[in-house]
Amino acid sequence: MDYVDKISKWIDENSVELVNFCKSYVRINSVTGNELKAQNWIKIQMEKIGFSKIDYFALDSKGTRPNVVGILKGSGGGKSLIINGHADTVPVNDVELKSWNSNPWNPIIKDNKIYGRGVSDMKGGISAALFAVKAMIESNVDLKGDLILEVVVGEELGEHEKGTSGVTRRGYKAPFAIVAEPTNCEILTIYPGAITWQLFVKGKTVHNSQKNKITYPQRYGLDYGEKIGVDAFKKALKILNAWEFLEKEWNFRWKHSILGGGGVEYDGTPKPDKEGVGIFGITPAIIESGDYIIAIPGFARIRGGLYHPHWVKGEEVIKEMREVINAVSKYDDWLKKNPPELKVEYYWGPSIIDKDHSGVKTLANSFFEVTKENPIYSGGVGACDSTWLYEKGIPTVVFGPGSTSFHVHGPNEFLPIDQLVTATKVYARTILDWCNNK
Ligand SMILES: [Zn+2]
Repeated sequence: MDYVDKISKWIDENSVELVNFCKSYVRINSVTGNELKAQNWIKIQMEKIGFSKIDYFALDSKGTRPNVVGILKGSGGGKSLIINGHADTVPVNDVELKSWNSNPWNPIIKDNKIYGRGVSDMKGGISAALFAVKAMIESNVDLKGDLILEVVVGEELGEHEKGTSGVTRRGYKAPFAIVAEPTNCEILTIYPGAITWQLFVKGKTVHNSQKNKITYPQRYGLDYGEKIGVDAFKKALKILNAWEFLEKEWNFRWKHSILGGGGVEYDGTPKPDKEGVGIFGITPAIIESGDYIIAIPGFARIRGGLYHPHWVKGEEVIKEMREVINAVSKYDDWLKKNPPELKVEYYWGPSIIDKDHSGVKTLANSFFEVTKENPIYSGGVGACDSTWLYEKGIPTVVFGPGSTSFHVHGPNEFLPIDQLVTATKVYARTILDWCNNK
């Protein structure tokens, strides 16, 4: 039995321990901003596993949100590999909690799936990466290149300066990186750009008893319409509706062989991808309108996000949204005089890696060897820390157990146990193949 089979066997024999490890990890609440306990736990686990060096450092002003980087030092002559994952999860609000069938912070197993907050996004991926290293150490396998496992904070709210960008600035580099986000064990080579935006529309507030007068023409000689008041929320809806048509145009216009139905090109056999549905959408999320319950809203402030493909610049996307605002305003006397304002809160760039990059090929081959199935190449439907590695010149792919469609960021988030085990084996094999070859 060669060392690769030995490691796979070790992972199979220790899969119960792997599942228990992942459950213990989920039990530690690590909602963004509150990562300390989970990160201290990860540090202890890395020490127990036997990493050569553990770098524990916080980049936030209070020093309570540490990143943990575990390094398994190679003997030299091989290539380094980074595996990156975020420790933070999204919260569970009271409305969401009512829809959970179990306690999100006390994971249960049902139908071979683990249920809990953060299990797919992405404590499963981090558990798999840690166990891949554990499997290698327990099987006495030596590495030539360094393996660098980055467990970072602040991904969910885009605080990459405190997390991944900060870690990269500290000097961690490699010719190839894998972000262990949930990808349904598909190989995600392209990630879209993401933007969060804010739309502000001015109205004219007045007692809500005046609605009739602001909505319909009145008897000759009486004031009506905007002389009385203007409902800012209704004006904003005109723009949001028009943006829906723009979104539709985008999805007809922006096509890529790896997005939307995808199709594996590994052996030429088409195989539908489940992850890369290729939706470039505008999603209004936080809506604030008026500040008094019995008044016509005098303003509307709508905040939301959007995704666009990597080959289109964020500025061009925003320009197109502004053009739609202008077009709508042209046929609205109030908006013509009171132009709505669109501001960008942040730009999160895309990330891409060539499907034929030697690292991607190593990962794809490992996947094939582990599963005896062809891998599926697909595209990300969200944004993740791959961007910040990619921007620093580190070729980065995204691959991990779980899926954004397994109720991630919502009630009853789950992770299939077979994916957890598969990903662990694929990581182990990829680490060996990559780090031990020139
Ligand atoms: Zn995530």
